[in-house]
Amino acid sequence: MANKKIKANGKKKVEEKFVVELSGGADSSLACLYLIERGIAKENIFPIYVNYGQVYAIREQEMSFRIAKYLNLQKLYISNINLFTRRFDPFIPYRNLVISSLALNYAQSIKAIAVVNGSRGLVPTPDEDCTYRDSCAVFYVLFNNIVTYIKEEKENIIQLLPILTEKRQMKMMKDEVYSELNRFKFPLDYIWNCYFGVEKPCGSCKNCKELKSFKDRNCLMLLT
Ligand SMILES: [Zn+2]
Repeated sequence: MANKKIKANGKKKVEEKFVVELSGGADSSLACLYLIERGIAKENIFPIYVNYGQVYAIREQEMSFRIAKYLNLQKLYISNINLFTRRFDPFIPYRNLVISSLALNYAQSIKAIAVVNGSRGLVPTPDEDCTYRDSCAVFYVLFNNIVTYIKEEKENIIQLLPILTEKRQMKMMKDEVYSELNRFKFPLDYIWNCYFGVEKPCGSCKNCKELKSFKDRNCLMLLT
């Protein structure tokens, strides 16, 4: 994938645009960094944040604004919807299906060629509570077929791209995500990964513990 400059009418250069589903977390931040690393110009990256009624939406949205600004991306587009959520339950049926659809709608409006997201799952793994069927590579392959089918003649082809799953034999684990963010010197304090905190991270959920563990080990590495 490259940020091709297409010459329209032999004169005007048209650059390919990408929409990125930004959630204020580590995975979607890394998805942005991978796009930039591949040579996509920052002004062609259009982040979208979806407030679907989650209890931590204000903090996620703040972080998404901060990340978009830090990375010099285009202005963050906010989509507000109401999903039926259960307080402090991270499983929301069809959430990613809905978010992908909203991002596709936005992508079509600005004539983007792809919607990039930070999903890491390859196939659903029942033993891992945060891998949902609509956030796995298999789902995006199937959904891309639907997108192609429902596309109108005059519309762009838009690809859903879970960039963290590309060329992977095994799922990228959270520790690797943090290591990659570290490689880009991305400030880990800019992310919101907690499923339970409202104003500030709870400090005791799986995501909070993983981040703290990574930070602790990283400090040790720096000290030795
Ligand atoms: Zn937490």
